[in-house]
Amino acid sequence: MSLRTWDGPLNGGIAILGGGLSGLSLAAHLAATPPRPGPVVVVDDGVHDITAASWASWTRRTGLLESAATEVFDRMRVVAGGHDRTLALGDYRYRVVHGAALVAAVRRHTDPVPDVGSSIGRVVDVDDAQRPCVVLDDGRELRPDWVFDARGPVEVDSRADAALDFLGVRIRADDPLFDPHVPVLFDFRTDQTDRASFVYVLPTDAHHALVEHVCFLDPDTPGVPADVHLAAIRVYFSEVLGVAEGTYEIGASEHARLPLVAQPAERTDGRMMRIGAAAGLLKASSGYAYEHIQRDCEAIARSFAQHGHPFDVPKRHNRFARYDRALLTAVLGRPSFLEELFAALFARGSAAPVLRFLDEDTSLRDETRLFAALPAGPLIRGLTGR
Ligand SMILES: Cc1cc2nc3c(=O)[nH]c(=O)nc-3n(C[C@H](O)[C@H](O)[C@H](O)COP(=O)(O)OP(=O)(O)OC[C@H]3O[C@@H](n4cnc5c(N)ncnc54)[C@H](O)[C@@H]3O)c2cc1C
Repeated sequence: MSLRTWDGPLNGGIAILGGGLSGLSLAAHLAATPPRPGPVVVVDDGVHDITAASWASWTRRTGLLESAATEVFDRMRVVAGGHDRTLALGDYRYRVVHGAALVAAVRRHTDPVPDVGSSIGRVVDVDDAQRPCVVLDDGRELRPDWVFDARGPVEVDSRADAALDFLGVRIRADDPLFDPHVPVLFDFRTDQTDRASFVYVLPTDAHHALVEHVCFLDPDTPGVPADVHLAAIRVYFSEVLGVAEGTYEIGASEHARLPLVAQPAERTDGRMMRIGAAAGLLKASSGYAYEHIQRDCEAIARSFAQHGHPFDVPKRHNRFARYDRALLTAVLGRPSFLEELFAALFARGSAAPVLRFLDEDTSLRDETRLFAALPAGPLIRGLTGR
């Protein structure tokens, strides 16, 4: 149970379906931003242990749950197109939030509020006739005024333009292999023959890191088996890092396939609103969702406080969906394009302009400046569909 137990009925107020990243983040933002339209109950099926999850992302804000960030970096490394660059992040920080720290940060806001809590149960039906009715597998019925649906994870989405398939493993190395101050966001020194792929290295200290092998796939093709990812990580260690087998240990792993959807479906239906990955907040060209989810939760809570409804959230400009689709089309058409693109994007002293673009915080003028230095052909073909 992640929040204070709620086992009573619910008549009015808010039901949040799914107590993962977005469900808990929204509960915290609602607790911290009165007035609320009544009690808030998070319902989770308990299938996913949130304390085992972690999220890395960049930000330049101090958000409500900032205390959950445990590792913070001010530089990042990109190895692409024969260039090995360590870039400053400007006013951004790249940071890691672990599930247990997220729950603790959320509870700092929810525990002092008596009518915010959580309940274990699997949602089997949501009916939005006049007023929403949420039915749980134990027969309970909740009658909230508003429903936020964060049920996930979504592994298949018929609207997906691509899929991000990755295996992450915890590594302990005998030698000090990792720079504890600099995460490697993209290292393309891995096979690109069949699919655009890179290696990601998130260090904990010089001997420990999370190492991921990440591939962009056509959404209709089968996933990459874990042993194929693992073989690529082993080749990376032996051939790129020059590390002998037997001098490092491979620990816990996570294998996932995320659908990348450039143009998500409408997220509201009457008094129901999707949040989190289910609302399309996973950025299709990067696979990151954490910061988008935090900003969205903040906007929903502010909208409730100001208007009594959740709908006054910033609308995404359609051109960002077009850019994302163009990139995915280009990368699926020619896998080596991703490396060329990233080599050009990060050929600068600071990563900040690119991070701002990925956050969709740029103006058309900023984008024109950014695009001027990029290999344009495949992107234009992706934009025009030719
Ligand atoms: C392995 C992995 C690593 C990731 N790493 C990053 C990262 O480093 N940075 C980043 O920005 N993004 C990352 N993402 C993407 C994204 O941030 C996460 O998927 C994030 O957890 C999405 O939050 P969410 O609330 O939408 O879904 P979730 O956190 O998955 O929460 C959904 C919850 O709903 C529950 N649920 C499902 N069905 C029901 C039901 N019927 N009834 C009740 N409860 C239900 C689930 O058990 C779960 O607890 C990662 C994704 C994965 C899969």
